[in-house]
Amino acid sequence: MKLISIILSLATLGASAHAQNQIEQLKQHMEQVCEASLVVRLGPDQFHDERVMFSNVARKINETGVLRGREIGFGLIQKNEINAWTVNMTSTHSIICVPIAMVQFVHYEGELAAIMTHETGHILNNDQGSSPKAEFRADAVGLDILIKAGYSPFDAAAAMGRFEMYSGDIHTDSKARTQFKSDHPITPDRIEQLRILLSTYTAQELHTRGND
Ligand SMILES: [Zn+2]
Repeated sequence: MKLISIILSLATLGASAHAQNQIEQLKQHMEQVCEASLVVRLGPDQFHDERVMFSNVARKINETGVLRGREIGFGLIQKNEINAWTVNMTSTHSIICVPIAMVQFVHYEGELAAIMTHETGHILNNDQGSSPKAEFRADAVGLDILIKAGYSPFDAAAAMGRFEMYSGDIHTDSKARTQFKSDHPITPDRIEQLRILLSTYTAQELHTRGND
């Protein structure tokens, strides 16, 4: 069973003890990898809206078909950290860890989708570490998945703008800026790349895959 379908059917697989056991093992595995408890451990009324938003994005990414043979476990975790990251377990099996604080921070499904499709981009690119080049490449693949999943490409700009305002990627001191840039490509450059990529899509591609 694919990881994504296990996560999405957690609520409906109550009957079989074997299935329960499988799910429990998977949960523990994801918790080890993400180094935090999964939000599904909490009662169903806790973080309800965040969970709905998170599973909507996971389902839509899965439905694009871009994952092909890959299995991705989407882990919504109990962590107060505005971040998201990907761990590649094997060449076909990866886990995306998304703290609940991140979902609350972005607040909108499209922006969460921009973050999760970017992380999916890292997986499809077989990235092991982070570098400016890897970030730009993940942005490019992420934008494509974002559009295929039916979100607005501008959701990516909205998410980046939010981060820009929150963490202040723009350094006025040129030395600090150069230092920072060697670790993280700065947001305006990432948005510039997305703008150029966006011009390669036809209006039809952007519209027919628009809102559902
Ligand atoms: Zn990244």
